[in-house]
Amino acid sequence: MKKIAIVGGGIIGMTLANYLDQKKYQVTLFDEPTGQATSASAGIISPWLSKRRNKQWYRLAKDGAAFFPKLIQDFQLDETIYQQSGTLLLRPKEQLTELFTLAEERKKEAPEIGTIELLSGEQTQQELPLLKPLPALKVSGGGRLDGKAYLIQLRQLAEQKGIEFIGQRVQLVDATTINYGEKEAVFDQIILTGGPHLKRLLAPLGYQVDLRPQKGQLLVFQTAYQTSGALPVAMLDGEADLIPFLDGKILLGATHENDAAWDLRETPEAFKQLTDNARNFLADPEKLLSTPFHYRVGTRAYTSDFAPFFGQLNDHLLVASGLGSSGLTTGPYIGYLLANYLNTGQANWQEYQKELITYIQQEKTLES
Ligand SMILES: Cc1cc2nc3c(=O)[nH]c(=O)nc-3n(C[C@H](O)[C@H](O)[C@H](O)COP(=O)(O)OP(=O)(O)OC[C@H]3O[C@@H](n4cnc5c(N)ncnc54)[C@H](O)[C@@H]3O)c2cc1C
Repeated sequence: MKKIAIVGGGIIGMTLANYLDQKKYQVTLFDEPTGQATSASAGIISPWLSKRRNKQWYRLAKDGAAFFPKLIQDFQLDETIYQQSGTLLLRPKEQLTELFTLAEERKKEAPEIGTIELLSGEQTQQELPLLKPLPALKVSGGGRLDGKAYLIQLRQLAEQKGIEFIGQRVQLVDATTINYGEKEAVFDQIILTGGPHLKRLLAPLGYQVDLRPQKGQLLVFQTAYQTSGALPVAMLDGEADLIPFLDGKILLGATHENDAAWDLRETPEAFKQLTDNARNFLADPEKLLSTPFHYRVGTRAYTSDFAPFFGQLNDHLLVASGLGSSGLTTGPYIGYLLANYLNTGQANWQEYQKELITYIQQEKTLES
């Protein structure tokens, strides 16, 4: 049986671990989760109305969203973890008509977008009473994923399969050897899914990686606003979205802070930025903004062209990173594609990304 190590227990690493053929591989997953993006994330799964021009990224995000029904079934995700809640997009009225046309066009290749409706202010408020009566575009296929709850569920499933977890920060000694604490272990394959840390992980082996960290903060309000039905996610105009969960938790976020990078401190500036923006959209701002809250802070990974990359780097190493602000949408599918590659030898991802060499270059020849 071959030995596989996964470094990084975020959404890619954990999904990948669960899809690996346990009859073929003995799997160890290393994760030290400080600053992990997956558990800090907002949870919006709704890529279809993005105006990004990168067609490969859009295909990946679209197929990533379409992958969710399989994910729900394979990992028994209940509605507290993932819910197809629908998404409301709040924009000035003239932009909504344009977005409606874009949505109709995209639906031809992405039926999972569901129904597309232009809502009056009154209808928007009926959908999500927290909001002012503002016009919106609703897509019924949008959803929200509780990243942290997803990881807890997948860890339980992985442990039942016999996957070993080691909660330590690791370093690569060479392409097959991992150092953790005082120990070293050798593997046939190592899969690096460490988010923005990939750059540091690969540096000792002479690789240069086009990756930068970005800080994201969001606010979690614990309200009494519980519901048994699905409240839609509201994607507000500006840098803040509202994501209501079934237990009364309402997320407001997130910031995109390039200067702060690795800094994980909670800041009053983030609170001000997010709440100032939300006030323009909330029917009764003080009601929500005066409820108890806490921060979530995480670090996203970005490449220069904002596109993810994943695949086989050399005989022993596989990598995946650069998921930016849409990694909850693309991450599970990337994990699945990598697992499928290791299980079957089929690499079905050319249509989703540029060649790996675009993002990772070797400075010197590896002696491994
Ligand atoms: C505030 C915020 C809001 C977001 N909202 C959304 C959203 O609404 N929708 C969406 O689609 N995406 C969202 N994202 C983006 C998404 O969360 C990320 O793109 C995705 O979770 C990245 O997953 P990952 O597995 O690549 O990395 P991560 O989740 O960061 O996991 C990597 C893990 O590897 C560990 N690790 C790294 N190096 C080592 C090492 N040497 N040893 C041991 N462990 C190591 C890390 O500590 C971490 O636990 C958001 C991100 C943030 C920060």
